[in-house]
Amino acid sequence: MNNASIEVKNLSFSYNELPVLKNLSFNIEKNSFVSIIGPNGAGKSTLVNLLSKVLPVFNGEIFIEGKSIRDLNNIEIAKKIAVVPQYVNLGFNFSVYETILMGRYPYLNRFKGENHEDFKTVKEVMELTKTDIFKDRKYNELSGGEKQRVIIAQTLAQDSPIIILDEPTSHLDINFQIEFMELFYSLFKKNGKTILGIFHDINLAIQYSEKVILLKEGSIYCYGNVSEVINRPNIMSVFKSDVYVGKNPFTGKLYISPNFNLHFHHEKKEMKSEVKIHVIGGGGAASPILNMLHNLGYITSTGVVNNLDTDLYTAEQLGITFINEAPFSPISREAHLRNLELIKTSDVVILPCLQFGNGNFLNLTAVAESIHLGKKVIIIDSESMDSRDHVEGRAVKLYLEIAAKGAIILKNIEDIPQILKNLHKG
Ligand code: ADP
Repeated sequence: MNNASIEVKNLSFSYNELPVLKNLSFNIEKNSFVSIIGPNGAGKSTLVNLLSKVLPVFNGEIFIEGKSIRDLNNIEIAKKIAVVPQYVNLGFNFSVYETILMGRYPYLNRFKGENHEDFKTVKEVMELTKTDIFKDRKYNELSGGEKQRVIIAQTLAQDSPIIILDEPTSHLDINFQIEFMELFYSLFKKNGKTILGIFHDINLAIQYSEKVILLKEGSIYCYGNVSEVINRPNIMSVFKSDVYVGKNPFTGKLYISPNFNLHFHHEKKEMKSEVKIHVIGGGGAASPILNMLHNLGYITSTGVVNNLDTDLYTAEQLGITFINEAPFSPISREAHLRNLELIKTSDVVILPCLQFGNGNFLNLTAVAESIHLGKKVIIIDSESMDSRDHVEGRAVKLYLEIAAKGAIILKNIEDIPQILKNLHKG
């Protein structure tokens, strides 16, 4: 049996002469939750307008529950697909209750009014969407967020197996956004609905979706599980914007954040990219420095970093060379030696503001070794070493030796670019 709710084959669409969708083929499986993500103009709204037959003329095939969309009339489509748009202004000033009841139009008999089933469904969806508390007010007199809730209720009253969302939560406060995402998610999980949505907020979308369609310039760039689609190279390629992809520790789900350090790109041209810089890693302290240096165009490496450490994850995302160690294990002699090999090929070594214990003390000896090797050493000392020494004063002692041998000590990582510029001039 065919398990697709929506089947799209070689779909192409143009507005006048402008090709907007180019030969798309994909399936949306029954009872799945799929998000469509892509930059403005990628063709997301056009795609959902085609799937709901708002735009009836196209090349290729669209099947809704096995039937060609060309053979379905508007009432038949409305029984299969409900579209939640961004809020709409209605021409007539109906009450909230009447507006929601209109969602039952695919089931109404021309000669009989609404029946018991219609009233029951409307009551249920009003409770679900918390619109029952203002059911007698006029729709046009509601706030944008309240109108949006009424439109969502109206769509749910349609009781279709497929729900298409077109940025449905963009007018809602964060608490209602989450409440409605939870509602759509439970309709998918508990009521067997198929949810296909365009979301303004990518993070909100990927918290709830099973699968993501990444749309770029009218073509499917990637379609798969969230973890297959949401990664830095894909997002950078499609949105032309640098991001950090992390895991929300509260939910275990991926999230993306813009790379706010991009202003360093503007300084890049003044910098000498052949300068090699090694950053001692650990505990996430190296990450902002690695990102900054990477944006400035330096050849960068890091080590020794334990697997699962944020710094390792950052190095992987940025494509930076690293020396790693097993998770939660002390630095081995072997990893330390490999770290020193990397240091030998570098011009500058940077020590971020790290905590030192027995497990990573070898990383501090690597900095002392760097001075012996004649490398320029920059130390970030935003917090006194006294409070970061967990090895009974050994870290403080070695740190003072390193400082006495000419390391440059900075309070802020923001001062690094200027120091590197000066070093290179000198
Ligand atoms: P998205 O929803 O991803 O922002 P759209 O589907 O709205 O993208 O638009 C895709 C492309 O089609 C854009 O270049 C847009 O300017 C164009 N477009 C959208 N609607 C129309 C229209 N009614 N007439 C002509 N061009 C349109």
